[in-house]
Amino acid sequence: MVHVGIGYDVHPLVEGRKLTLGGVEIPHTHGLDGHSDADVLLHAVTDAVLGAMGEVDIGHLFSNTDPTWKNAPSRIFAEEAARRVRARGGRIVNIDVSLAAERPKIFPHLPAMKANLSAALGIPPEKIGVKATTNERLGFVGREEGLAAWAVAAVDLPD
Ligand code: MG
Repeated sequence: MVHVGIGYDVHPLVEGRKLTLGGVEIPHTHGLDGHSDADVLLHAVTDAVLGAMGEVDIGHLFSNTDPTWKNAPSRIFAEEAARRVRARGGRIVNIDVSLAAERPKIFPHLPAMKANLSAALGIPPEKIGVKATTNERLGFVGREEGLAAWAVAAVDLPD
């Protein structure tokens, strides 16, 4: 039986932090602030997978007060979600994610992001959609105060 899950995440853009999206370090004037590497795209994907399983969200699995996860690469979180799917005897069918970012240009990095997601989740890159859009200069994304990501996951779980 295929179950769907949704994930949503936001992180603020600040000076003096690296910008890591989908596990790809992207040159930019600002980076995302957070306890881990603040990879908003991987956080949304992780929550989509966890949500499809009806499990608690990323913030409850990996507390932002736990020093273990300080500046941690968020690939670890996605890998754990995928591990939980396998532990339940299931498989991730596909993932789709949309990123809202006014700057920088994301398109050149999409193939590398897909490759990283494929490796972290253990599914082929052709089962992974990654898109980026600007926010037409509207709202906090438009003012370049932060980035937002939405993800959906389809997970086949035994009944
Ligand atoms: Mg987050």
